[in-house]
Amino acid sequence: MSNTIAKYYKIENEKLIRLKRQCPRCGRFMAEHSNRWTCGYCGFTIFKKEEGP
Ligand SMILES: [Zn+2]
Repeated sequence: MSNTIAKYYKIENEKLIRLKRQCPRCGRFMAEHSNRWTCGYCGFTIFKKEEGP
């Protein structure tokens, strides 16, 4: 049973990694914050408008 769970989480992890956003300016991965995405390289910021309460 524990093997099945471990496999499941591994798949979920790969999905999360793919969902990471890339900066439209410089193409680097952006850091996720509670309400926005920011690029640590050029400072580009995307606000999460759709994820409201
Ligand atoms: Zn950038």
